[in-house]
Amino acid sequence: MEKKSQSKKVQTDTFLAQIGNHQNPVTGSINTPIYFSTTYEHPTLGESTGYDYTRTKNPTREVVESALAVLENGAIGLATSSGMSAVQLVFSQFPVGSQIVASRDLYGGSYRYFKELENQGIYQFIYVDDEAGFEREITEKTAAVFIETPTNPLMSEVSIEKIAVFTKQYNVQLIVDNTFYTPLIQRPLDLGADIVLHSATKYLGGHNDLLAGAVITRSKEIGEQLAYSLNTTGAVLSPFDCWLLIRGMKTLSLRMERHEKNAQAVVAYLKTSPYVKEVMYPGRGGMLSFKINDQQMIKEFLRNLSIFTFAESLGGVESLITYPTTQTHADIPKELRESYGLTPDLLRISTGIEASEDLIEDLKQSFESLN
Ligand SMILES: *Cc1c(COP(=O)(O)O)cnc(C)c1O
Repeated sequence: MEKKSQSKKVQTDTFLAQIGNHQNPVTGSINTPIYFSTTYEHPTLGESTGYDYTRTKNPTREVVESALAVLENGAIGLATSSGMSAVQLVFSQFPVGSQIVASRDLYGGSYRYFKELENQGIYQFIYVDDEAGFEREITEKTAAVFIETPTNPLMSEVSIEKIAVFTKQYNVQLIVDNTFYTPLIQRPLDLGADIVLHSATKYLGGHNDLLAGAVITRSKEIGEQLAYSLNTTGAVLSPFDCWLLIRGMKTLSLRMERHEKNAQAVVAYLKTSPYVKEVMYPGRGGMLSFKINDQQMIKEFLRNLSIFTFAESLGGVESLITYPTTQTHADIPKELRESYGLTPDLLRISTGIEASEDLIEDLKQSFESLN
């Protein structure tokens, strides 16, 4: 038997289901083996099997990294220990004093990290709300642009293609956190981005049982630099977690279909609910937010739910409901959050893969038992 390349000559669904298959000519194992070995025997001085030490390269990690690169249509994929270590890796590249332009409405943990970088005098961040803001702020002083689309938790889309026009003009890196949409809905590199990153803890892993991150680069050169940096700093994904991620990704396509279908059904219901004043949903994906009429009711509303779980995070098979004000976005100062619409009446939902009728019924009974 021979090892077949994991390249994308087939439809994405086929590719996903087959991750790791045809990769082990010695045993023919369909399921990727977990290589726990931290070190590898050298045949003789000056020779290597290609594997020396697991921080540098690991056969299980290689399978997931090459799959990530194919999925996002990039040159190089890297698997990291968490989404935040993926963000950290990407932001290890720029000279001290660099200016970064970023989406204002983004994951609270990324905001907290950027604040930390700023406090240490490493970079300066400028936050903008929309495409016009990016057009205004990207200049030759900018080192990189960082966006989340749809934004989090307000769920508005910004055009990667439009922003890429300016980043190309000034020759600055465009970095996209694609956690919410996944490559099944949006491939940022195809739209002009230079680097895509993920919290693979979310949809890619998909089962609320794994913390992982991913970085995929359009250019081989930047990818190799980041791989060097990852090997140097060490936040690689462990072999067992690589295996969990491979297993999760095999069903990504099926799951995304259901997440999206459920989100659309929940959105349709919430729009008719007298307890809800605003629903935010970009029309695709499994994430939505809504504003409740009376924010005093939030505590009781959350307590009444029996299928939705009140928890932070997203992208797993179980439906979750999050209160960004005290959970995911608590590190953004109150006045700042509220100034751009992240108000204390806002709840965020990640629809799982349950039956939509049950999800709607759960929300309905919880609203109706209020007061
Ligand atoms: C969760 C999340 C992160 C951070 O990822 P971890 O895996 O929790 O470290 C980054 N970006 C977005 C959009 C997220 O949802």
